[in-house]
Amino acid sequence: MGRYTGPVCRLCRREGLKLFLKSTRCDSSKCALERRDQPPGMHTQRRRKQTDYGDRLREKQKVKRFYGILERQFRRYFEMASRSKGNTGSTLMSLLERRLDSIVHRLGFAGSKRQSRQLVNHGHIYVNGKKVDIASYLVKAGDKISVKPRPKSLRFVRESLESNASKAPDFLSVIKGERPEGQVLRLPGIEDVSIPVQPQLIIELLSK
Ligand code: SF4
Repeated sequence: MGRYTGPVCRLCRREGLKLFLKSTRCDSSKCALERRDQPPGMHTQRRRKQTDYGDRLREKQKVKRFYGILERQFRRYFEMASRSKGNTGSTLMSLLERRLDSIVHRLGFAGSKRQSRQLVNHGHIYVNGKKVDIASYLVKAGDKISVKPRPKSLRFVRESLESNASKAPDFLSVIKGERPEGQVLRLPGIEDVSIPVQPQLIIELLSK
């Protein structure tokens, strides 16, 4: 199935959780979830109690929607996490957090993951001084993230940083100013994910 192009607030209402898929609107009183905290669609009050399978499926959908990735990509991350040493759930979440589009968003260079993916895909983001236009690129500890030295790119990022009220997470450092820059101080872990997640439910679903 292709990428979802419908109204993103529906996805938050479906999951019953703020997924921060829009820019400044998510932190304002205009947030659709704050105004209508019920699943989208008709007859939502009459829905049956969720099964164990339903809980697991919702957890997977929530994470996929939060990172804006497709089923096939998600399964690839799961396989990578399953093959690696250590806890599969933590590794899965760490891999997702390490995606370049996610890092660009968490640095505050863009207001949403969708915007940050566009910034990366259109070649506005450099890693260690080289252009990287692959949103799924996995950053490493010590990587330096900078912005294409063009007035338009720098202006967009500076404005995003100014309007972004939230602080960058501990595993990243940000230098604001004329030429904004960021650095990955350490690899992110499950504790760095900004929404509540229960990766064991996803593992139970996908391990079958
Ligand atoms: Fe979700 Fe943001 Fe829409 Fe609120 S405004 S429902 S957090 S996408």
